[in-house]
Amino acid sequence: PRPDLDLAALVRTIPDFPKPGISFRDITTLIGDAAGFAESVRRLCDRAAIHRPDLIVAVEARGFLFGAAMATAMGLGLVPVRKAGKLPGMTIGVDYELEYGVDRLELHEGAVLPGHRVVLIDDLLATGGTILATAQLMRSAGAEVAAALFVIDLPDLGGSARLAAAGLACETLIG
Ligand code: IMP
Repeated sequence: PRPDLDLAALVRTIPDFPKPGISFRDITTLIGDAAGFAESVRRLCDRAAIHRPDLIVAVEARGFLFGAAMATAMGLGLVPVRKAGKLPGMTIGVDYELEYGVDRLELHEGAVLPGHRVVLIDDLLATGGTILATAQLMRSAGAEVAAALFVIDLPDLGGSARLAAAGLACETLIG
């Protein structure tokens, strides 16, 4: 364990990506650093363990990187939530609003069962739209969302406030 390690210093900001005016927080430099990746996963696992989840649910795509490492470290299964059309089996889906237009997230039927306690994981919390849609998907499958965990929060975009208003417990490592 490296409780002193400054994870924020390992995240890079790329200006004007994917569009002019957007500052993209890039976690590839964090996961490319052996100590940084291990320590971020360790801190996420510590927070997830408090909620005693039955499963880890990870959001495409960068959520998979952290969620997969957490699931193996915690001895839990991993459930992927994916963009429309990617999962091969029967799915349930949820549509959610983007800044311009709508998007759709999907979950394999039977991947989570009624009564399962799940922890949601994604790399970054911005407006909260993605994770609130994921939480809705879990509830429509009958699962209980114990908490949502993120590596990075961008509080100016209002996601943490929206999650709090929706009663979804949320924790972040950076921000
Ligand atoms: P939200 O739905 O507005 O909270 O946006 C969060 C989603 O967009 C997550 O799945 C993130 O991976 C992605 N995202 C938004 N901004 C960034 C960024 O600056 N870096 C990495 N991912 C981002």
